Amino acid sequence: MEGSQASGGDQAVQGDTAGQFDVQFEATPNNLESFWMPFTWNRAFKRKPKVITGAKDMHYTSDDGRQILDGTAGLWCVNAGHGRKKIVEAVQQQVARLDYAPAFQLSHPLAFQLANRLIGMAPGDGAFDHVFFANSGSEAVDSALKIALAYHRARGEGQRTRLIGRERGYHGVGFGGISVGGIVANRRKFGQLLAGVDHLPHTHLPEQNRFAKGQPEHGAHLADELERICTLHGPETIAAVIVEPLAGSTGVLVPPKGYLQRLREICDKYGILLIFDEVITGFGRLGTGFATDCFGVTPDLITVAKGITNGTVPMGAVFCRKGIYDTFMAEAEQAGGTIELFHGYTYSAHPLACAAGLATLEVYKEEGLFEHAAELAPKWQEAVHSLADHPHVIDVRNLGLVAGIELEPRTRAPGARGYEVFTNAWEDGLLTRITGDILALSPPLIVTEQQIDQMVEMTRKALDATP
Ligand code: PLP
Repeated sequence: MEGSQASGGDQAVQGDTAGQFDVQFEATPNNLESFWMPFTWNRAFKRKPKVITGAKDMHYTSDDGRQILDGTAGLWCVNAGHGRKKIVEAVQQQVARLDYAPAFQLSHPLAFQLANRLIGMAPGDGAFDHVFFANSGSEAVDSALKIALAYHRARGEGQRTRLIGRERGYHGVGFGGISVGGIVANRRKFGQLLAGVDHLPHTHLPEQNRFAKGQPEHGAHLADELERICTLHGPETIAAVIVEPLAGSTGVLVPPKGYLQRLREICDKYGILLIFDEVITGFGRLGTGFATDCFGVTPDLITVAKGITNGTVPMGAVFCRKGIYDTFMAEAEQAGGTIELFHGYTYSAHPLACAAGLATLEVYKEEGLFEHAAELAPKWQEAVHSLADHPHVIDVRNLGLVAGIELEPRTRAPGARGYEVFTNAWEDGLLTRITGDILALSPPLIVTEQQIDQMVEMTRKALDATP
């Protein structure tokens, strides 16, 4: 399956148009001046720019003409690999047919089709019945938080205004997302943020779980902290708990066995909504459609983005569990209101994003990419854990086709070693992702066994080249 899957992917893109447009750009200091790059060490970038000009299947092309093996599916989003013919053509045809349709009081056919397709593949055995569209993971998160708050109000529990996130959680960069998020660096420069937010402890227990393969054994009890928060504030004041079922951006923290089940139980006990942020884990990353399937715990709201369009056109979405949409409809009807939810974006369900989304879901299905990821997961686990013997490596964590490789930080310069490894890997032709001194790998799901070996070998080489 592994070989046939990968070659199936290759055949599907023959005759592709991607890559035929030459990009005329020279990375001189003048040309680099105006763009304020997000989440970037801008000065370091401008000293030594890393510029991408093309992409195909498992590889990027850099502006100096090198092939870079994509070890991170772009930013965890290009799950079907780059420049996929079906997706490219769907977007091209759509832009020629209908470039834009207003998103309020009007819509277009693909919006309904995509929503139906998403609900058809949603996890939880028919638990979800509506999709709300946004344009990014951050917008999906803020939409989900607002839906949770308004849902409680609609059912007469408007006192539920408190939101609970988790330390080291990443939920994008909207004010809602950074408020419930728990990455200190992302929060500390922005002052007050949302009031009434509390955080669960993170689930990283290095002493007990170091070099755990798959889900770690220890840490389910950390979910009980939610009981403490409920006692502190009164559970009747809490609207929702949001967690990434597997935390990606913070360095790949895999949930301990039993942890998510426990969170679900406590939320059920007190009528609190549980939100899974599946912006990374959605669409096959863990070898199942969603983390919800993988861990067997069904939340009330799921946020997705990234892999929904294979990263081709920005899109985010919120899956809503049965009963949520109906509550809004019933409340508006009773109150004699018209608009049931005062929330939405100019580009909600954008025609190009919907076209990309529908084509992407077809590619995933036709090529069995989620199943392929599941089949490769044991090989992936073995390969990434082979780095455990490297002197810089203090932990390796993995699940599905994702891995976090934690490096010993340099005493006086945390993060510096990680950045150097990332740079050395790039120069050698491998794209990795770093969070401080944690290296993340999460390749497109079309990856082959041979490319996994190559990725791990190149990572080792980059580690060796880094003091
Ligand atoms: N939520 C999670 C779990 C993410 O990993 C990300 C991005 O990496 C986001 C939300 C934010 O998504 P976006 O960057 O599309 O706004």
